[in-house]
Amino acid sequence: MKKSNILVTGGLGFIGSHTVVELIEDGYIPVIVDNLNNSELSVLTGIEKITKIKPIFYNLNILNTNILEEIIIQHQIDCVIHFAAHKAVGESVENPLEYYYNNVSGLISLLKAMEKCNVKKIIFSSSCTVYGQASQLPVTENNPILKAESPYGNTKKICEEILTDVAKTGKLKVVSLRYFNPAGAHKSAFIGELPKGIPNNLIPFITQTAAGIRHSLTIFGDDYNTLDGTCIRDYIHVTDLAKAHVKSINFINSNESEIEVFNIGTGKGSTVLEIVKAFEKENSIKLNYKIGNRRSGDIEKIWADCKKANTLLNWKAQLTIENIVKDAWKWQNQLI
Ligand code: UDP
Repeated sequence: MKKSNILVTGGLGFIGSHTVVELIEDGYIPVIVDNLNNSELSVLTGIEKITKIKPIFYNLNILNTNILEEIIIQHQIDCVIHFAAHKAVGESVENPLEYYYNNVSGLISLLKAMEKCNVKKIIFSSSCTVYGQASQLPVTENNPILKAESPYGNTKKICEEILTDVAKTGKLKVVSLRYFNPAGAHKSAFIGELPKGIPNNLIPFITQTAAGIRHSLTIFGDDYNTLDGTCIRDYIHVTDLAKAHVKSINFINSNESEIEVFNIGTGKGSTVLEIVKAFEKENSIKLNYKIGNRRSGDIEKIWADCKKANTLLNWKAQLTIENIVKDAWKWQNQLI
């Protein structure tokens, strides 16, 4: 049976492109809208190499509500997966207006287009950043939402609030996925992460250091209250994360609830040093690293309780830290 058409905003980005692959492999027809602000057209070729299908693509900013409506109608869109958003924490502190405009107004524009065209289902990319430093670990979806540390984090919080309010009207069904730390790349190495400039995130910084693009990795603090003193995060392979979106479509189609929020992680925390060691071991590489000062705004530790997603979405992360560091390195190697 032919499955439905899914609008994927930001479908050429890191998580978006992996989700497009999983959608195609599950029989859906993705329609990508992306303005190439933080992605490359070449990602389309990567998707095609993996799936043998060239997905429909529009180079469009989602703030353009009228054209979005035309696309939604033309392709008889059934459900939207919304990735298109800025995501750099530091940049958001320097340019908050741009972040609020792009991320919050972008969502509103999309929701208006959906309402006009009678599309009633959306899957939203949220983040564990909404929990801040949770006092109880692992963190469940019921943990309190703390005041955001950055404008970026605040846009995620505000967007969840907007979605909750719209869902309450009964006109929209929402699944909000709170990602923990997405990392790795497709196992084929045809698609992966393309950080612009100096990476902020740990895994791309590690792979660029190993490739000689960066001189050394600085580990931000080793005096935290953890096993080896470095921070703990829940790193999730991007392919597992992509699959959670496909499962969310099944859920939203078969469930009556107006809005459901899910943690998407592995349930296991790793320290920065554990990630470095795993990278060295799996890839037989010695990494040049040093211990530096704490990075301001970093929380000490967080990892997910994923029981809700395991049960209601029938989804569970399958891949490990070892898969993440191997796939990330394979991807880095074909970039050079
Ligand atoms: N980190 C680090 N050096 C880097 C980049 C990150 O030690 O060059 C640490 C950072 O302090 C945090 C972890 O790696 O403890 C994950 O950081 P990332 O920026 O990837 O994700 P987030 O802070 O959003 O969880």
